[in-house]
Amino acid sequence: MEFRDLKKQYEQNKEKIDNAIAEVVSGGHYIGGVAVAHLENRLAGYVGAKHCISCANGTDALQLALMAWQVGPEDAVFVPDFTFFSSGEVVPMVGAVPVFVDVEESTFNIDPQKLEAAVERVLHETDLVPKVVVAVDLFGHPAKHEAIRNIADKYHMYVLEDGAQGFGGMIGERKACSFGDISTTSFFPSKPLGCYGDGGAIFTDNDGWDRLLRSLVVHGKGADKYDNIHIGMNSRLDTLQAAVLNVKMDFFEEEIKGCAQAAVWYDTSLLSVCNIKCPGTLDGYHSSWAQYTILLENEAVRQQVIDNLKAAGIPTAVYYKKPMHMQAAFAGRQPVTADCPVTEDICKRCLSLPLSAYVTQMEVAEICQVISGVL
Ligand SMILES: *Cc1c(COP(=O)(O)O)cnc(C)c1O
Repeated sequence: MEFRDLKKQYEQNKEKIDNAIAEVVSGGHYIGGVAVAHLENRLAGYVGAKHCISCANGTDALQLALMAWQVGPEDAVFVPDFTFFSSGEVVPMVGAVPVFVDVEESTFNIDPQKLEAAVERVLHETDLVPKVVVAVDLFGHPAKHEAIRNIADKYHMYVLEDGAQGFGGMIGERKACSFGDISTTSFFPSKPLGCYGDGGAIFTDNDGWDRLLRSLVVHGKGADKYDNIHIGMNSRLDTLQAAVLNVKMDFFEEEIKGCAQAAVWYDTSLLSVCNIKCPGTLDGYHSSWAQYTILLENEAVRQQVIDNLKAAGIPTAVYYKKPMHMQAAFAGRQPVTADCPVTEDICKRCLSLPLSAYVTQMEVAEICQVISGVL
């Protein structure tokens, strides 16, 4: 069994993907061009954002947003304690200071009340300026963007939506990657919309930031790339990857539905199993189901479940083992001591199960049977 079945996806769409790749290779234009422009227009339309700027990966996308806002050494950036490393890594990359905020067990996303408490602490205990909140849509479930927006407005902060896993999710009729002042996503192969290597995108409604970001992704170019008006990066999306993504967008909505179906199969099969918590979805929220992550009773039980699934040929993943505030890379960089008991607890109990639009009901049943055998 595959954890996220990208081979089946390719097999089912082989001809279209092969043709798109061959067209780029035989066309002789490997950077930029029609495929990239077409993809950017399409993604902006899908998300409902005015602008989409493609780039090399989801980490660069986050860093570029902070660069566009000139976030630097005097600034505090609030990041959920339970997320992939990138969400926080980019903060010291621009010289700013990360403040890790605890999450809610029910959605794995940043807890708005604790966010406000963290902002107050920074204001009272440090000389830093609260500047940005990174709102991560973890595992595909959109963050509580309305509550986060209210806090950001109150303290004059920007919202940076990290939609690397959230792309394709919704709150009401509004798509993920439209909630930030700037929003970002990743096209790493295993993300909801993945390419065949690295890729990323940035979304915004702001014309000035759009212009600036388009410059920053190509060495801070002015009139052309040999006229340099900013210190930027080399962070372009390859034409080949754009061509692949254009094909995958044709069936993306269907895939999201397939993942949601698999999630329902899991929910139903695990309903009767004791001592297990299935991932919930808030009313009016739609997950893109980047991951299906359960919570077990404790670390020992989790290890037993992992071992038994492994013995049955079923792969799992622990996203994430370690709270951000405990990562060695952030040692000595945090201005206030983190207060994140929920994250510390769920890091010991979380387990992500195989999920894709290609997993079958039989496979889900088999997985759940192994799990219920342990509990
Ligand atoms: C994957 C991921 C990123 C980084 O994306 P890359 O394309 O791998 O650089 C950032 N944030 C979150 C939450 C992610 O899951």
